Amino acid sequence: MARQMIRKEVFLAAIKCSTQGWYVMQDRGGVPTHGERLRMDEGKEVHDRARSLHPNGVYAGSVEKTKTLVADPRQEVIFEAEFQINGYVARADWIRRVEGGWVIGEVKSSLISDESPKAEHIDDLAYTCMVLRRSGLAVQSCELVLMNRDWRIGQPDSELFVVLDLTESVFDRAQGFDQSCDKLRLSLLDDGIPPPHMCYACRKCEFFRSDCVGAGIKDSIFYLPNLREGKFHQLNSQGIVSIHEVPKSSELTDYQSAVVRAIQTGKPVIDREAIQACMHRLRWPVGYLDFETIKAAIPLYPRVAPHEQVVTQYSLHIQEGLESDLEHTDYLADHRMDCREQLAMQLLADTKSCESVITYSSFEKTTIRGLAKLYPEHSNELHMLEDKLIDLLPVVRNGVVHPDFMGRSSIKAVLPVLVPEMSYKGLEVADGDTAIAAFVSLALGKVQPDRVQDIRDSLLEYCKLDTLAMVRVLEALRQY
Ligand code: SF4
Repeated sequence: MARQMIRKEVFLAAIKCSTQGWYVMQDRGGVPTHGERLRMDEGKEVHDRARSLHPNGVYAGSVEKTKTLVADPRQEVIFEAEFQINGYVARADWIRRVEGGWVIGEVKSSLISDESPKAEHIDDLAYTCMVLRRSGLAVQSCELVLMNRDWRIGQPDSELFVVLDLTESVFDRAQGFDQSCDKLRLSLLDDGIPPPHMCYACRKCEFFRSDCVGAGIKDSIFYLPNLREGKFHQLNSQGIVSIHEVPKSSELTDYQSAVVRAIQTGKPVIDREAIQACMHRLRWPVGYLDFETIKAAIPLYPRVAPHEQVVTQYSLHIQEGLESDLEHTDYLADHRMDCREQLAMQLLADTKSCESVITYSSFEKTTIRGLAKLYPEHSNELHMLEDKLIDLLPVVRNGVVHPDFMGRSSIKAVLPVLVPEMSYKGLEVADGDTAIAAFVSLALGKVQPDRVQDIRDSLLEYCKLDTLAMVRVLEALRQY
């Protein structure tokens, strides 16, 4: 059997936790979701377009071909240049021949921003740099290729990218990697799994509950909302791994304390005043509003920036009074075009009768503000709509801390507890990520014609359930 090689994802996971690196090497991650598959396809397209920066480049794609092309002085740029050395494998998006050596190029489908480069981008390049240098390539410099937010459909692909020279920081980081890579190789290529240790990285580790130190812990301390690293270490150093073990004397935020109390006693912590205050603010008729948006690295429509959020859909339930029947209306954009102005106008018409509009999170407010900026001719009315918004999320967070929420307050977490008869289970589109993937697939023409209407119906059904969930959650809150 061919010996496994350590690839970039494995190494970068292993420098945080060698057990995690081992799991990644065994491909223990789950099947990619629709959203993840979409991002993979998007990443591939961005990489393909970035090659336009080097029209003379040639594709390698294997160690042997790379060797041949590197040895040929006529080749200036080699795409997908692959190198293997001492159990490690790395593939550079490209290497570019310069005087005395080579430049490594790494393409990312992130936008350039004031925060660029991110630490993870430097780590990516540093790993490649380490392996290429160990393979004997004279690496002269390293460049990161990011996306240009000013690019619009119609401009040449080469203008979609901005190149940053990161040589100094990448060389520094690569030196650090170089020092730990022999030790890591021994632990990763050993047959046994490196012994796990609970650490702060476990908080976001996909293996925590399924395979590793979190297995069997029902109420892990990672359920504490906004658990900071310092507090984690304080609790972990006392051997505390579950919320049941958190002592009363622990210094926690009010919200964390309420979560601890609820889980330890098994009873909800209720703040009736917070619920009543919300009820008193309501002016009837009340609307319940939820938006869906998409974001695509390569814009789907003209005049849209890379990664710009585009609102595509809303659902609105309206209730005349507390005990009145519900009315429902919705909007789903024609996926073949940018329908934001039409959506904004229909939204204004649909919400005209509402005195208050309930949302769940501040996302709807941000989206309405974005529309007001985009369409100044409708901004007055949109700002008036914004003034009617009431966010139900902080009301739930402050009003009811239920042990079964497990420290979460998203609508998906609270609905099955407060309204057990309602569920997203069985829906073709049952979460925001899938909704984005479904709409983008429609817009890209990737859906079979006989499935288009089904997918659109599923999107409408999903969004409708989101606003119906808000109605029912508010009803449930009133019972406390
Ligand atoms: S759960 Fe923690 S110890 Fe286990 S692999 Fe993940 S980070 Fe490492």
